[in-house]
Amino acid sequence: MAARAAVGRASKKKAKARPQAARGKRTTRARVSAEVAKFRTLLEAERARLEAELEEIEHRTARMDESERANELSAYEDHPADLASETFEREKDLAIGESVEGMLQKVITALEKIERGTYGVCDACGRPIKKARLKALPFATLCLACQDRLEH
Ligand SMILES: [Zn+2]
Repeated sequence: MAARAAVGRASKKKAKARPQAARGKRTTRARVSAEVAKFRTLLEAERARLEAELEEIEHRTARMDESERANELSAYEDHPADLASETFEREKDLAIGESVEGMLQKVITALEKIERGTYGVCDACGRPIKKARLKALPFATLCLACQDRLEH
């Protein structure tokens, strides 16, 4: 596709370091592209945030595994409440981890759609997704009507 070829050319050009000053105002991109670029910035920030969160949860889970192994040798029975709360914390982390991962996947999918030039287009019906919906949910891949249809 033409869009893909353009992306390829652009990334090759990037090797010649672009001066910082070239960024910003002096853009001839269409209004829609500028808008999509804004969503891309937003999504990239969200991706970074989610990745950091996921990493932190993984570290925490790893630490808990360690303390659990250490505890196996000591008397569990003396502190049933501690064990329960630790298990609960771990379960909670697993659940959070799963939802963070799911969210991250959505963000990545949206970024892929931007690269493919299909961002803001409903995956199901091919009609444009309303701006208001994208603003509330930048990683939406379905229009509201299709989302509703799939949920009911
Ligand atoms: Zn749709």
